[in-house]
Amino acid sequence: MLDYTFKTHAQSETTGFGRFVAPFLAVQSVITLSGDLGAGKTTFASGVATGLGIHDHVISPTFNIMKCYFNAKTPLFHIDAYRLEGGNKDLGLEEFIEGNGITLIEWPEYIDTLIPANALHIVIHNLGGDEREIKVSTTNSAFEKMFKNMKERYQ
Ligand code: ADP
Ligand code: MG
Repeated sequence: MLDYTFKTHAQSETTGFGRFVAPFLAVQSVITLSGDLGAGKTTFASGVATGLGIHDHVISPTFNIMKCYFNAKTPLFHIDAYRLEGGNKDLGLEEFIEGNGITLIEWPEYIDTLIPANALHIVIHNLGGDEREIKVSTTNSAFEKMFKNMKERYQ
């Protein structure tokens, strides 16, 4: 199990962390993003998009379930499962998650059966003001290098 926790102190640091993570992602990488409303899940996602070379404005897909960005080398699928709580989950989202892109999933607990075992898990806690605690974990050893760099860079 790879596991690391650190803090950010401004929105720009959380987008910066997204940009840091982006180069470690590949086709079929899945990142789950957990945390309360306003924690910073979408903020992190926009940093990942920037890091992948996507320059669109990344907004919360809450009202769309999913937004796809195709203008990068690897497509980015941004899922927000919030509105699937207790509802119809049979939307074929696995076609994207197991497809040819990178997938970011906000509110993964609502589609837990679709989350692959090798996903990277990020949990964000709002500590008040602009301070956020970011917990990163995975059982996927492909992320070892990323964790090594992350521990050096974020303390
Ligand atoms: P979520 O997607 O988790 O609901 P958002 O990313 O949409 O949350 O919103 C996070 C909000 O918190 C934004 O208004 C952002 O400006 C603010 N914020 C303040 N400090 C931070 C920080 N350190 N990291 C991320 N967001 C922060
Ligand atoms: Mg959001």
